[in-house]
Amino acid sequence: MIPAQFDYEAPTTLDDALHLLAANPDDAKILAGGHSLLPAMKLRLAQPVMLVDIGRIKDLAYIREDADQISIGAMTTHYQLESSALLKKICPLLPECAAQIGDVQVRNKGTIGGSIAHSDPAGDWPAAVIALGAQMVAVGVNGERTIKADDFFVDLLTTALSPGEILREIRVPKPAGRFGHSYQKVRHPASGFAVVGIAVALKLAANASCESAGVGVTGVASKAYRATAVEQALKGQSLNDQTIAAASAHATDDVDANSDLYASEDYRRQLAQVYTRRAIQEAWARAAG
Ligand SMILES: Cc1cc2nc3c(=O)[nH]c(=O)nc-3n(C[C@H](O)[C@H](O)[C@H](O)COP(=O)(O)OP(=O)(O)OC[C@H]3O[C@@H](n4cnc5c(N)ncnc54)[C@H](O)[C@@H]3O)c2cc1C
Repeated sequence: MIPAQFDYEAPTTLDDALHLLAANPDDAKILAGGHSLLPAMKLRLAQPVMLVDIGRIKDLAYIREDADQISIGAMTTHYQLESSALLKKICPLLPECAAQIGDVQVRNKGTIGGSIAHSDPAGDWPAAVIALGAQMVAVGVNGERTIKADDFFVDLLTTALSPGEILREIRVPKPAGRFGHSYQKVRHPASGFAVVGIAVALKLAANASCESAGVGVTGVASKAYRATAVEQALKGQSLNDQTIAAASAHATDDVDANSDLYASEDYRRQLAQVYTRRAIQEAWARAAG
């Protein structure tokens, strides 16, 4: 189908973009890589009257390392994250997650900011940023604020961003110490989206027990979530096949799991447990190795 008619603006500064959004609060939508928004417009699920293309704003695509955090510009593409030598060294969960998104075309155009702002329940980035304890930097005409990943994903296609706010940057605490990670995904055979996606960021203590674990889950519920019960079951434990399996059994505790033509609720819960176990095992092996 062809999208409904719309106006197109391509500001070159963040300020101009924010003012365009503020002047058209009900009608304007931000355009980033377009790989979620344009398909929705073609199906007429979204009919914005104005698109504010933020692709020409300088300095929205970057990966920077500071003393204790990594800053990623919202317009950084999946491919830039997948191929970053810096991230492969200091935070390999990010390139590992990026590499599993869609196909080459999608990864070349789609952006981390667009994906996180879209809050697709089967999107990959939300699981990774939750597991890593990231923060989102949102900017509006009245200034900037940071939102924890845990608070950012509110519901299906709904985030904590206020109308007119632009997600400007993603801040990830720099992993340190005996750190291991894993992203395990069951791809939907038609779309490539996550039927289930589990991101694990794990830190071992000096005695090799689990000091902390971050577990983000996507594909299972109406929004990505932190598997708190799994994290609690791992903390302080000496890791082995039994403790990992016991913790993974909590992957869908207190969660309303989705059911669709491809995966029933029971099957999804089962997949979530199995893939949580695999992700923890891989993260553990990497941290110990
Ligand atoms: C064939 C195909 C396969 C795909 N497979 C996968 C997959 O396996 N895994 C996966 O995670 N994704 C997948 N995607 C989605 C893809 O990753 C998109 O790129 C991503 O979801 C949206 O990013 P975008 O930059 O294209 O954003 P857009 O489509 O431009 O925008 C998406 C939404 O976010 C808003 N938005 C964008 N940027 C910002 C910002 N900085 N601040 C505030 N709001 C903003 C827009 O207004 C819009 O509502 C797939 C897409 C396609 C077409």
